[in-house]
Amino acid sequence: MFPKMLVLLVIFILYSTINQPTSVSGSDPDPLQDYCLPSPHSHQCKNSSSVTVDDFIFSGIKHPGKFTNKFSGVPVSATVFPALNTLGMSLVRADFEVGGTNVPHYHPRATEIAYVLEGKLYSGFVDTTNKVFAKVIEKGEVMVFPRGVLHFQMNVGKTRATVLGSFDSQNPGSVKLPAALFGSGIDDELLEKAFGLKSKDISKLKKRFG
Ligand code: MN
Repeated sequence: MFPKMLVLLVIFILYSTINQPTSVSGSDPDPLQDYCLPSPHSHQCKNSSSVTVDDFIFSGIKHPGKFTNKFSGVPVSATVFPALNTLGMSLVRADFEVGGTNVPHYHPRATEIAYVLEGKLYSGFVDTTNKVFAKVIEKGEVMVFPRGVLHFQMNVGKTRATVLGSFDSQNPGSVKLPAALFGSGIDDELLEKAFGLKSKDISKLKKRFG
């Protein structure tokens, strides 16, 4: 073999080996240091001399958040709790008044495991073949929602329900279908065609979710 081709071959093999883990893995990257509290003025980590224990404590989920339509969700992601930066995980506290729902949504960057702290919920997801996996789960049980898959919950009990969701991403993201479809500014004509609805029905939905 010509030396030039050999060099190219070695480069190719090295390139595919190095790139494989990142191309097949969808999770957050491994940390390169113990922790990395983002410095407010750069993309670097704060110097550890200015980091304190309080940076690693978040008290914002002691209590439910603000309820809208009988539901309250308080994310504990790196956005609100910077200590999670580079650590590849986060939480959400969700509270449901009787009948309250966590509308169909998905997390583009994380699988979620939801633990029922209180109450009883109809809980489920829909896979990419439109098969629904849903059941009533109660206090002490967990359900897992695979990454990027549409899921939902509804309080079907007679008391308030509380769920703690755990994610394998510091910033799982949440796409809530009603708002993403009708509150985002997609052209009416497309929505009318997609849903087979009249212009006035789309306007109604846009008013509700906009
Ligand atoms: Mn979720």
